[in-house]
Amino acid sequence: MKDTGFNPYEMAQAQFDSAAEILGLDTASREVLRVPLREYQFSLPVRMDDGSVGVYRGFRVQHNDARGPCKGGVRFHPAETIDTVRALAMWMTWKCAVVDIPLGGGKGGVVCDPHNLSMREQEQICRGWVRKLAKNVGPVTDIPAPDVMTSSQHMLWMLDEFEHIYGGHYPGFITGKPVGMGGSLGRTEATGYGVVFTIREALRELGIDPEKTVASVQGFGNVAQFAIELYQQIGGKVICVSCWDQTDQQAYSFSNSQGIDLKALKGITDRFGGIDKAKAKELGCEILDGEAWLEQDADILIPAALENQITGDNVERISKKVKIIAEGANGPTTPEADRTIQSRDIFLIPDFLANAGGVTCSYFEQVQSNINYYWEKDDVLSRLDLKMTAAFAAVSELSRKRKLYTRDAAYVIAVDRVAKACRDRGWV
Ligand code: NAD
Repeated sequence: MKDTGFNPYEMAQAQFDSAAEILGLDTASREVLRVPLREYQFSLPVRMDDGSVGVYRGFRVQHNDARGPCKGGVRFHPAETIDTVRALAMWMTWKCAVVDIPLGGGKGGVVCDPHNLSMREQEQICRGWVRKLAKNVGPVTDIPAPDVMTSSQHMLWMLDEFEHIYGGHYPGFITGKPVGMGGSLGRTEATGYGVVFTIREALRELGIDPEKTVASVQGFGNVAQFAIELYQQIGGKVICVSCWDQTDQQAYSFSNSQGIDLKALKGITDRFGGIDKAKAKELGCEILDGEAWLEQDADILIPAALENQITGDNVERISKKVKIIAEGANGPTTPEADRTIQSRDIFLIPDFLANAGGVTCSYFEQVQSNINYYWEKDDVLSRLDLKMTAAFAAVSELSRKRKLYTRDAAYVIAVDRVAKACRDRGWV
């Protein structure tokens, strides 16, 4: 969310238009699918700790629910905009469709910076967000989840407010709940692990031994940390990570050609995924500029921070050695950069496939909440692996068969499924 004039909604629409073109989609379906079905924008007044009132802007966008209730995270970010939320809601629709789970696409956000808010103030924002939306969200209409700078604690406050309003237990209203309070084992790991399930499959297709590979990662938050954990377990080495430095208001990369020590690095990282520079140096990391992660001599790049990171301006900095880009973040690559990546024959695992592990596990959480029986962690993760592997195989096969860029192949599968649901329901 840098202020560069970049508009993720326009990018999401351009990507959709190109898929609609490949599919030869009729005009009515295009009109229904390229904009959200519903969107809500509201002000949230909050009593601050010092007695003053802070007023925050809140959003919820429901892009499409033809295949099932809307599903999507709630982000807390100072630079959140309605267009970012619209884009992310749209990507959620495609994400649920590409992994073939019976959910639609939604997203929410609040323009706020949790770095400067106490937990009590954040709780008030969560409760206020639910009060504003209680009539428009729910277990059979729209199910929120954690996202950037929101956690299981935020979800529990939101659930508690919803249950106060409706006077009952509705654990299926929200996912990402704490384990023991209706949460699913494996949810914390799900997105990062899911990214690596797809990387493992891509390596298998390319005939590359994971143990001979090296990766560089942008970000060091939830997605990045668990992606690194599983990637190291399958034998890979991570030589660089990056993060946002709240004090300096800029990003830094942390490189170590011997491979980073995940456990030690996590020990010097705050809850926002910010790494302590001085302590990282003591761990043998070299501190480089924010974009250095991109130009490392790695086989695999994992952008897992935020959108608009690989652009026309920096795509040429990607090392010639890179064979796979797995998009852990949503929308990290602009269409201009996409063209270069495609021409260089880098195997791209597009965002809404690569990071679909989170929503897939959220779906499992809903299923468990609804039947009130909770699966073992191994059970959750092996079901996740099955779903991710099947989705990867379908995208990769279509890409090969029709000689499509993998992003286009993923779009074609997803858009086709959602368009069919709209037709079958008689909407178009
Ligand atoms: P997070 O808040 O836990 O971590 C974000 C990380 O990115 C932090 O380490 C932060 O310091 C870093 N960062 C922020 N700005 C940066 C910059 N300019 N350069 C380098 N690093 C920067 O968030 P997360 O949950 O890991 O999510 C990361 C991305 O993955 C987001 O795009 C999110 O929408 C997407 N995603 C998350 C999930 C999930 O389950 N958490 C699911 C699907 C997609």
